[in-house]
Amino acid sequence: MDKKILLTGDRPTGNLHIGHYIGSLHQRVQMQNSGNYEPYILIADVQALTDNADNPEKIRASIIEVCLDYLGVGIDPQISTIGVQSHIYPLTELTTYYLNLVTLARLQRNPTVKAEMKQKKYGANVPVGFLTYPISQAADITAFNADVVPVGEDQLPVIEQTCEIVNAFNRIYGQTLTMPKAILETNKACHRLVGIDGNAKMSKSLGNTINLKDDADTIKQKVMNMYTDPNHIHIEDPGQVEGNTVFAYLDAFATDDQISQLSEYSSLNEMKEHYKHGGLGDVKIKKILNEILQQLLKPIREKRQVFEKDRAHVMQILKQGSEKMLEVASKTLDRVKTSMGINYFTDKTFTDKYSTN
Ligand code: ATP
Ligand code: MG
Repeated sequence: MDKKILLTGDRPTGNLHIGHYIGSLHQRVQMQNSGNYEPYILIADVQALTDNADNPEKIRASIIEVCLDYLGVGIDPQISTIGVQSHIYPLTELTTYYLNLVTLARLQRNPTVKAEMKQKKYGANVPVGFLTYPISQAADITAFNADVVPVGEDQLPVIEQTCEIVNAFNRIYGQTLTMPKAILETNKACHRLVGIDGNAKMSKSLGNTINLKDDADTIKQKVMNMYTDPNHIHIEDPGQVEGNTVFAYLDAFATDDQISQLSEYSSLNEMKEHYKHGGLGDVKIKKILNEILQQLLKPIREKRQVFEKDRAHVMQILKQGSEKMLEVASKTLDRVKTSMGINYFTDKTFTDKYSTN
């Protein structure tokens, strides 16, 4: 069986967090280890610069950090190719051609871009590069002929934009680009993990994260300070599970087996029922969540620490991966230019027409 091509990426705007883990990284590692995929992972520095043009230092520092986070969760550079977007320059040229296949109105309608613009309070002062990042993302996905793209829910409208570009390109210039498919985690609670402040999304830019590299004390402190139900003041008060950050995290991370090992409840549902009726305190639910997160993050942190000792090796992984990805993207760019008929100097039918002899 031919392996399917998998493409994913992350913006090097800070360290990766447990929202990334549950929404995308965990699935990437499983798919990588299944042997059924050829994975490419892009550290999207060009995209990160679209809203951080004045802070390239942040992006520069995050390249190695994001790669260390990958290695910590079990991305294996022998199987997965990890590359840096700016080094793979055919992506920029592909973006230029795709820009002509999308209207301004369509970009402004994109719910993800809309929400992010609102969050960043851009209005009409949005950097053009930021507004068009879904187009550059289409270049990333199509350059590697990706069949599948595992992402968090917020990225679905961006992948939809890629599919429209693929359709338009293939219709106008003939079948050239591969149609990708977004893959979401099966557990709905993992699609968009809320922030530790209760904000709708845990996000590097919002500073409401539990990072994969956080030490045990930091994790505990963040969990113990989490937002729960403001009306659940006394243990015996009935509590609300919906909108309660601790339960949102338990939905995403806890198994019933873990709950029964760590408490007198046989399942998460049983624990929720007790909380709703009253009699279950916030400290207790936080202690259970803390234990579950500590169990998950300890091996990730320890594996990461091994790689942290040899950053030169990490640089080598990135350099080799970027070079391999440059080769693949260059081939796609050649195909694209041939389909568009702008391969003037390598197209013999064209050069022959204008040769002097
Ligand atoms: P930034 O704030 O710089 O945009 P981010 O935290 O949103 O950073 P990205 O690098 O934009 O992270 O996202 C990388 C991948 O992780 C995407 O597939 C995205 O859908 C997924 N992801 C990000 N945050 C979450 C979250 N809170 N829950 C689930 N998936 C997430
Ligand atoms: Mg984001």
